[in-house]
Amino acid sequence: LCPVEIVSDFLPKLKSFNEKFNTFITITNEFALKRAEESLHRINNGQKLPLDGVLIAIKDNFCIKNIRTTCASIMLKDFIPTYNATVYQKLENAGAILMAKTNMDEFGMGSGTVDSIFGPAKNIWSKDLNNPAIAGGSSGGSALAVASGYCSAALGSDTGGSTRNPASYCGVVGFKPTYGLLSRHGLIPLVNSMDVPGILTRTIDDCLEIFNTIAGPDDFDSTTIKETFTPIKLPEEINVKKIKIGIPKEYHCNGLSSEVLETWTKVADLLEAGGAEVKEVSMPYTSSSIFVYSILNSCEVASNMSRYDGIEFGHRADDETSTEHLYAKSRAEGFNSVVKNRIFAGNYFLLRKNYENHFLKALKVRRLINKDFIKVFSEVDLLLTPTTLSDAPLLNDFMKLNNRDQTAFQDYCTQPANMAGVPAITIPIKLSSNDLPLSLQLMGPNFSEENLFKVAKFIE
Ligand code: GLN
Repeated sequence: LCPVEIVSDFLPKLKSFNEKFNTFITITNEFALKRAEESLHRINNGQKLPLDGVLIAIKDNFCIKNIRTTCASIMLKDFIPTYNATVYQKLENAGAILMAKTNMDEFGMGSGTVDSIFGPAKNIWSKDLNNPAIAGGSSGGSALAVASGYCSAALGSDTGGSTRNPASYCGVVGFKPTYGLLSRHGLIPLVNSMDVPGILTRTIDDCLEIFNTIAGPDDFDSTTIKETFTPIKLPEEINVKKIKIGIPKEYHCNGLSSEVLETWTKVADLLEAGGAEVKEVSMPYTSSSIFVYSILNSCEVASNMSRYDGIEFGHRADDETSTEHLYAKSRAEGFNSVVKNRIFAGNYFLLRKNYENHFLKALKVRRLINKDFIKVFSEVDLLLTPTTLSDAPLLNDFMKLNNRDQTAFQDYCTQPANMAGVPAITIPIKLSSNDLPLSLQLMGPNFSEENLFKVAKFIE
């Protein structure tokens, strides 16, 4: 099939899809067509690249040269980066065609893609678009781009579950790799110590192909692992014989829906039937994760957001009274209330009188959460858990909760992996009685991606 024909056919379809589901912030139009022409040219000259003709979408917090990158915020609504995020650059080098930048919660703070200046995204599985199911977040637009069938892959970001949560609600694969395997260069920072680019696709094979294309060290990100990355190749025949799977009992928590529990049990049985050893394990610090996350998250947010002062870049208020006034007004106008609340909370935790009692204590508990993982991975190879506690909530119900509760409830199973930096993948399993996707998560020790993909493929 000819990439130019596909792109020309899909662009108007993307536009009408977007009118319904509010998936994209920017559709790249001429840029996508130009990339498709380049692909065609290479194909015709026998110089086909591995991802020539593969259509992708990227969350709007990755910088793409000459394409508006907004973080779904007034603060960056006119920001046009002058360089490409490394992970995107690698996809471009491999021939992929960027079709759109996707909708998200402002600066990645949220679990619904409901807090965007462009309005909430709507789940493609919704029965009633007047009260749709949420797409999940904060990378909801990326999950929808893949679920729509128009893009084969999308990039999201994952600080506490923002790739896995929407993947789970939209019924696609969502992968958060080991911290340091994918470059964060050009990903607008939320929480530097937890952020990783995430991959969303329809199949495990596609996910692995994208991962193999973009993983590896980057001189522009000093936190990337220095060793050269060896692409992972899965065996032809997948089996799970002798693989030890842990079921952490603390993930059986308040609010877990009976359907998720049932799915979890069924897949554990399926793995056992395939020859895996499945056993219950304990990770006692799991429930502390939410509290630690909210302290550390706000502290890093407060620090990261200080760069938006209206002077160098970002929204500048129309106020010349004084420099301080200009800062204050630009920030008051530029950020939504979720971002502002986190900045306030973070600065409070970082006050000299609170620093030791809050920030340092949270860091210590983060270590304990990490130790839970180290200990459990001396007993088992991988963990099987829910990704989210239920299928996608309806927008009206979700909006009744405040952002803190939205996050605390939705991210319970996903953010411990970010605390510890370990890889995790969500796999769609079946539809719930509401006809919405139900998914499960696998987590492994650092750099266990091969095993993770193998077992994920067995489950798929
Ligand atoms: N929901 C979490 C938060 O609001 C996770 C965000 C993310 O992973 N980017 O912080």
